[in-house]
Amino acid sequence: PANAALGRVMSIGAIMGVMLKEKDEKVLININGHGPLGTVMAEARSNGDVRGFVGDNTVYLKYNDTNKLAVGLAVGTDGYLEVTKYLNLKNNFTSKVALKSGEIGDDFAYYFAVSEQVPSLVSVGVLVDVDYSTKSAGALIIQLMPGHTESDIAFIENLKLEPISKMVAKGPSLEVSLKELFPDFELLEKRAVRYHCDCSKERFMEGIMSIPKDDLLELLNDEVIEVKCEYCNKKYEITKKEMLEFINEHLEHR
Ligand code: ZN
Repeated sequence: PANAALGRVMSIGAIMGVMLKEKDEKVLININGHGPLGTVMAEARSNGDVRGFVGDNTVYLKYNDTNKLAVGLAVGTDGYLEVTKYLNLKNNFTSKVALKSGEIGDDFAYYFAVSEQVPSLVSVGVLVDVDYSTKSAGALIIQLMPGHTESDIAFIENLKLEPISKMVAKGPSLEVSLKELFPDFELLEKRAVRYHCDCSKERFMEGIMSIPKDDLLELLNDEVIEVKCEYCNKKYEITKKEMLEFINEHLEHR
């Protein structure tokens, strides 16, 4: 269920990313329930870019009774769901809640209710193919706005939702499904989301430059510094010469 867990977190992350108000804002989601999967991390930007990774992508667990992928067991429940929002005015907001089931959807519903004080219904799912590849992934977040009524709550509680991954797999007819669910459905905006990692050699060099001086000197003992992007697994080789030049250039510009 590694891709099921990652797909769920990234689907919700993508929505939370585009919910940010300004461009260049981002949200970082960090989940660790001390299950075999390890850390599940996703980073989403307001422009719809999302990237993520799991600690161990080889974990495979199923619930015996239902034969469903055991995301909750893989993620674990002894830990936290942590959300950090990087907002434009250089403010970071971090809040975390204890994991409820590790099934991700419930955990985010709890997060929205407790940390953002917005009662929310979160439906999230990943359709995993017979060859374990990911067929579709999607999330639906329904939030109660201030001024909602008892009948709004009742309406949402009585919604008969089919698995969101199945709705997404239908493609363009997703809007039809939404119209069936919500009679007064009105499409306000459509935004594209994509998996995209924006790592670069330069980014890594900036990162290396900001580590404590002693650690930096130790790194520079080697002729080549090898780094790997934990999101997309891309490898970069930075020579000592390149690194020193980069440091010189950037110190001058300060
Ligand atoms: Zn990358």
